[in-house]
Amino acid sequence: MDRFLLGSPEITRRDFLKIASASLAMLGLSQALTPRVAKALEDSLGKTAVVWLEGQDCAGCTESFINNLEPPAASILLDTISLRYHETVMAASGHKSEEALAKAIEEGGYVLVIEGSIPLAEDGLFCTVGGKPFKDIVREAARRAAVIIPVGACATFGGIPRSGPTDAVGFLFRGTRKHHHYDDVAAGKPVINLPTCPLHNERLVAVLVHYITFGTVPPLDRFYRPLAFYGYNQHENCERRGHFDAGRFLTDWSDPKQQGWCLYLKGCRGPVAFQDCWKRLWNNRTNYCIQANTPCAACCEPEFYESFSPLYERQVDVELPGIGRVDIDKVMATVGGAVAAGIGADMLISRAEKRSNGNKNAARAKPEKKES
Ligand code: SF4
Repeated sequence: MDRFLLGSPEITRRDFLKIASASLAMLGLSQALTPRVAKALEDSLGKTAVVWLEGQDCAGCTESFINNLEPPAASILLDTISLRYHETVMAASGHKSEEALAKAIEEGGYVLVIEGSIPLAEDGLFCTVGGKPFKDIVREAARRAAVIIPVGACATFGGIPRSGPTDAVGFLFRGTRKHHHYDDVAAGKPVINLPTCPLHNERLVAVLVHYITFGTVPPLDRFYRPLAFYGYNQHENCERRGHFDAGRFLTDWSDPKQQGWCLYLKGCRGPVAFQDCWKRLWNNRTNYCIQANTPCAACCEPEFYESFSPLYERQVDVELPGIGRVDIDKVMATVGGAVAAGIGADMLISRAEKRSNGNKNAARAKPEKKES
């Protein structure tokens, strides 16, 4: 196993049990599977090769992942998986690091994590690594991967860079639209999209544990997002929902009377955001955007950021995948308060049903395992 980081804390059986139990809970699977998952983790110790590429990004997803405390990121990177290439955290640089990537690709069968969008304009020259356009590096690495996990808003749907001049795309999508640049290299392989800006570290740990144990991907929606993490609507589960229903909307951040009121008029996109941030929380379960008095930006959705900007302003209409463009503002203004909430719920339920039907047809391809 290649070792890149700081000193490795020793990982114990108790740690494996904790990782197994937490991951099963996150994926909504039975705790009865804990011993099986812990055993699979122990048996695969250091054997699951991971190649982590970074393109047009801010390294925020890497930052988020290495801040994982339970289990410690160093344990995951050094003991649980075999991290073969990651330009931000690996000690090697220059030719040495490119050699490490070439060797990993030659061996094949790894988990490919992609962070950052892929610029296609000017034949990919807006992002090159080691003299190669990132779009070609992704192609080469995806061809030999066993499973592909684009992380963060940029690698999944294009994210913020998509609104710039580089013709940035996610691995399979540009917003809600499928593009076909990588269809040939992704064919027959599981792709698991883990959007949000940045990646939520626990979601990646859970899908890695799932893959190591079962060799399959968890149930996905039609944008290849695990339903266990992206099957819930923020607005339906928001702690400020009572204020929304009662028509109490925050308009003045500095008015103490309005603290805790609904952030809809401050640009909250919670009604169109499907994620589990409201129960998973961030920063090692400290809080999340709405709890920290910040409107939800729906960074988990394919249309973030292009269709949702400017942030902090009330949204007039939004593109809902599977439904089309919806004038939310008009719905709210016409019907008002609790009745509007009912209409919103119907709309969201209809979307959730479409999503769940689509999921029944989602590919459940078993990834090819690396030959040992
Ligand atoms: Fe919560 Fe935003 Fe919905 Fe208000 S609009 S209830 S803050 S999700």
